[in-house]
Amino acid sequence: MLDATRYATLFEPVRIGPVTAPNRFYQVPHCNGMGHVRPRAEAAMRGMKAEGGWGVVCTQEVEIHPTCDLSPAAEGRIWDDRDLPYLALTTEAIHEHGSLAGMELAHNGSHAANQFTRAPALGPSHISNANGNPRQARQMDREDIRNLRRWHAEATRRALKAGFDIIYVYAGHHMTTAHQFLLPRYNDRMDEYGGSLENRVRLTRELLEDTLEICEGKAGVAFRFAVDEMLGADGMQAAEEGRGVVELLADLPDLWDVNVAGWENDSLTTRFEPQDGFQMPYIDFVKQVTEKPVVGTGRLTSPDMMLGLVSKGVLDFIGSARPSIADPFLPAKIRDGRIEEIRECIGCNICVAADNQNVPIRCTQNPTMGEEWRRGWHPETIAAKGKQDAALVVGAGPAGLECAMQLARRGYHVTLADRAAEPGGRVLAEAALPGLSAWKRVADHRIYDLQQRANVDLYMSSGLDADQVIELGIPNVFVATGARWRRDGRGRSMMTGVPIEDGAQILTPHDIFAGAKPDEGPVLIYDDDQGYLAGVLAEHLARAGHAVTFVTPASAVSPFTDYTLEQHRVQARLLELGVTLHLSHVLSHVAPGVANIACGFTGRETEVAAASALLVTERAPETALFDALKASERAFNHLELLGDALVPGLIADAVWCGHLSARNFERDPSAIEADWFRREIVDLKQEA
Ligand code: ADP
Ligand code: SF4
Repeated sequence: MLDATRYATLFEPVRIGPVTAPNRFYQVPHCNGMGHVRPRAEAAMRGMKAEGGWGVVCTQEVEIHPTCDLSPAAEGRIWDDRDLPYLALTTEAIHEHGSLAGMELAHNGSHAANQFTRAPALGPSHISNANGNPRQARQMDREDIRNLRRWHAEATRRALKAGFDIIYVYAGHHMTTAHQFLLPRYNDRMDEYGGSLENRVRLTRELLEDTLEICEGKAGVAFRFAVDEMLGADGMQAAEEGRGVVELLADLPDLWDVNVAGWENDSLTTRFEPQDGFQMPYIDFVKQVTEKPVVGTGRLTSPDMMLGLVSKGVLDFIGSARPSIADPFLPAKIRDGRIEEIRECIGCNICVAADNQNVPIRCTQNPTMGEEWRRGWHPETIAAKGKQDAALVVGAGPAGLECAMQLARRGYHVTLADRAAEPGGRVLAEAALPGLSAWKRVADHRIYDLQQRANVDLYMSSGLDADQVIELGIPNVFVATGARWRRDGRGRSMMTGVPIEDGAQILTPHDIFAGAKPDEGPVLIYDDDQGYLAGVLAEHLARAGHAVTFVTPASAVSPFTDYTLEQHRVQARLLELGVTLHLSHVLSHVAPGVANIACGFTGRETEVAAASALLVTERAPETALFDALKASERAFNHLELLGDALVPGLIADAVWCGHLSARNFERDPSAIEADWFRREIVDLKQEA
């Protein structure tokens, strides 16, 4: 137990204009794939953050008008009064716990494709639409600018009606009209809104003045601003125009919420930026320029770092998106001196991927994220055990660890066995690859928790077969034995496998994890998985001095990492390491020393040198133990397969599956079947 008073500074109230935040923990706006499409789910998720001690909890970007329609993304929407009842659900959920509710109003300039409304997109200049659509945004004339100010003002009044305490003007992530006006790359206007920095700031100043006037005495006005684009001299830099903007507007807003642009820089993964608090060198000047409170982000997870930032006068508020997703109760745990219980964000951006795929937010570390309303999951509490007393979990990978931890929290006596010497399963193996060391936190958090509990026996170096499991006599068995990468090349492009001649050296990721060394000569990596792993293995082998040839049917390296905002960095890194890329090619044949690859469009074959071939294609679930137990005479009270052994997926999927199994244990199976989860069904009431 730490001395909780050590962190008392973090729990001081801070004024934001006319309102006062109860402490310095500030959940900055973040997307979540729920928004106006799944409003109850969003309200419950935000309410959970407030319950967990975040003094300010904000929405994601909220579209203020049909000319900024982000469909199919599930953002917020405040087009007219019909949106207020759903938004009020969120403010009520936040206020219930004494926190302030922040509303991030947004007009999205050329970032909005307006796919749903078909309204012409608006921007500072005639510029291309940001979303890959062959459409453009139209340069706003003075009337458009007056309209935008009116829409923003109307949205502000509505937000106040819905009960929000903090209203944003948003100029960040390259995603909003105000931000685009600030940047010469987007803004080539010749009028009073273009040219000099003073002119480019004009729209932001007007929006801030309008919002302050409407909010006076009722709500604080926050300005979210990206001080640096991380483009060097090609973009806005904190030391130059970024500072200039802060100087021009210094004490106008009630709060500065500062970060870097674009989103891929603001939400950098640990793979490409291992340093928690990485944004501080960009934003630490802001407090020297303004008297108003400042909030900053950048994976601020360590309480000592938070304390240091406040006491050194860098920040007034500890801003957080991802750490608050990984642990909504982070402030409460610091307050109560339970720091070792914090579930630290691993910086994997699976949360971001969910939003980019337009599904409700999910988190590798926190399986309850996004499930607060629809399944009623609380990150800190779980139902007590039923009639059964004991459970065996075989496999201490992410699924087994999470399942064992939750079963132990429910009060069962849990035996957790794994044939490996150390718990962690695939997490340990993957965390040893370049840039992924933070992923080990998934295992560490759970192992620490299990070690604190008297009702858990952890047996390592304990491979179990069916007879041994039966001999243990534990009536409830959870089998989380993982999956093995296939050696035959079967995958989404070669569904019957890759023809492989005798004598060719074939490797799988598991061989590399186990320390196997490729033969002398070029290593061909075939990525038919198209997730992240093959790209990381290519980096690993290239760094170890191997000549690497990367072949994939995809048109880019590791396409899934586009969702986690990393793809451009992944591909750049492989190119910088000298990896030879063959995109849009399938692996059609492997012989000793040589392989044939075929163009995915024409089928034209090319021969490439390959002393070895590392196949990253598909995984086969490890079900031998489960199958043998199922076939045995012994009738178990409960026998369940989970995690990658049930269906291979992401680490996040394995953790979630382990959590689900533990929650559902001893629930009535027909109830589980009947109530998969609550849904927000479209109201068919017709509007007049
Ligand atoms: P998941 O992602 O589903 O948790 P992992 O592959 O990470 O799967 O973990 C599976 C774990 O199961 C590994 O640590 C592996 O050593 C262990 N394991 C597999 N088969 C057995 C077995 N028969 N007895 C004990 N442990 C096993
Ligand atoms: Fe952090 Fe990954 Fe969870 Fe996002 S999904 S909050 S990056 S652990």
